[in-house]
Amino acid sequence: MNLDFTDAQKSLQTEIIDFAAQHLNEGVEEREEKQQFDRSLWQKSGELKLPGLPVPECWGGRGLDVVSTMIALEALGYGCRDNGFSFAIGAHLLACVVPIWLYGNEDQKKNLLPSLCNGTWIIANAITESESGSDAFNMQTTAVKEGENYVLKGEKNFCSNAPVADLVLVYATTNQAKGMFGGISAFVLQKSLGHFEVGSKVNKMGLHTSLMSSVFFDNIVLSSTDLLGKEGGGAVMFTKSMIWERIGLSAVHLGTLQRLLKETIQLVKKRKKAAGRNKEGNFQAISHQLADLKVELEAARHLVFHAAYLLQNKKSADLYASMAKLKSSELYKKGTMTLLQIHNKMGNTHPKELIRTFKDATASTVYSGSSEIQKNIIAKRLKI
Ligand SMILES: Cc1cc2nc3c(=O)[nH]c(=O)nc-3n(C[C@H](O)[C@H](O)[C@H](O)COP(=O)(O)OP(=O)(O)OC[C@H]3O[C@@H](n4cnc5c(N)ncnc54)[C@H](O)[C@@H]3O)c2cc1C
Repeated sequence: MNLDFTDAQKSLQTEIIDFAAQHLNEGVEEREEKQQFDRSLWQKSGELKLPGLPVPECWGGRGLDVVSTMIALEALGYGCRDNGFSFAIGAHLLACVVPIWLYGNEDQKKNLLPSLCNGTWIIANAITESESGSDAFNMQTTAVKEGENYVLKGEKNFCSNAPVADLVLVYATTNQAKGMFGGISAFVLQKSLGHFEVGSKVNKMGLHTSLMSSVFFDNIVLSSTDLLGKEGGGAVMFTKSMIWERIGLSAVHLGTLQRLLKETIQLVKKRKKAAGRNKEGNFQAISHQLADLKVELEAARHLVFHAAYLLQNKKSADLYASMAKLKSSELYKKGTMTLLQIHNKMGNTHPKELIRTFKDATASTVYSGSSEIQKNIIAKRLKI
């Protein structure tokens, strides 16, 4: 994969970085402290179609190819200092909007996608339950067929965006015997129709501006028009959306890490200059840590963009998506910790944004499939 982006891709990068700096960063520390989601920022991001980057323009999206979508998400991570906001965009777009675009029928695309892409609506993905997380398809939520309708019953946990969601994409068992091999189906539910209730806000360690809660379905009668794709097609759809999400969230995280690395290098250079020539040797340990981080970052970026290239070219991308996710999320955690230590060594003991980002990064090795799950996928592909 060539990381020498085209002029159009470079101007996309600049556009998104500038947009984030201008519109998304102000007040982040206050929102963070109050655990607030600012819907006006979401609406603003709709002007650039950030919530619908790869969706074709005819359905209200920005119409980017896969690689350009990942370039845009990397730029969002780089420019936006509100990691919760970038994560909320990623969860909405990659786990929900993409499957609606790829598997929805004409009516669903026409009725749902424009408002999901232009910042009007927010959608949450609901698959995790109290007894099923990594083994996501082992779910208790059921959608039982009654005539032409389905009756949905169950409870989902840890749903990002749910407290502010207009829609929920939920996965339910429609055939217990078939399980993940044709027994899981996906439905798009609307808050305005009373299709779901949400629980209270989950108090997370990080990502405070991305709100999360449980979602409840109490014998909700759904029509077959609420079914996304075909009955029994849910497992395939979810697996596909996770390939998008693993690549896309990795791109966001690596964008963030690149900016933090750049800012730390600027600080080290300033301190080195102030210390003078005779203290230059004191900075060698720090410069090696920064050099190591740069190498790992570029290696991770190559995995991310190679996975994007495979997905774009309709080749099997699951192995590279898992390798990219494993490498990027572990590096996100390790890298922010390294940068935090470097700041501390230089007397900057309270780098607020780094402390916050380190806390945000801890969840990255859990969501979208934990690191152990990525290793299981990689090992399976190695036929171990
Ligand atoms: C910030 C955040 C946002 C989230 N957003 C959403 C969302 O929008 N929608 C949604 O539905 N869910 C969401 N989740 C839930 C997330 O998908 C689950 O937390 C995740 O799948 C892990 O499930 P679990 O927490 O039940 O852990 P478990 O599956 O119980 O795993 C516990 C530990 O065991 C390990 N483990 C489990 N199975 C295996 C195995 N087979 N082999 C080796 N190790 C294993 C795991 O790696 C982990 O370390 C979110 C989670 C977080 C932290």
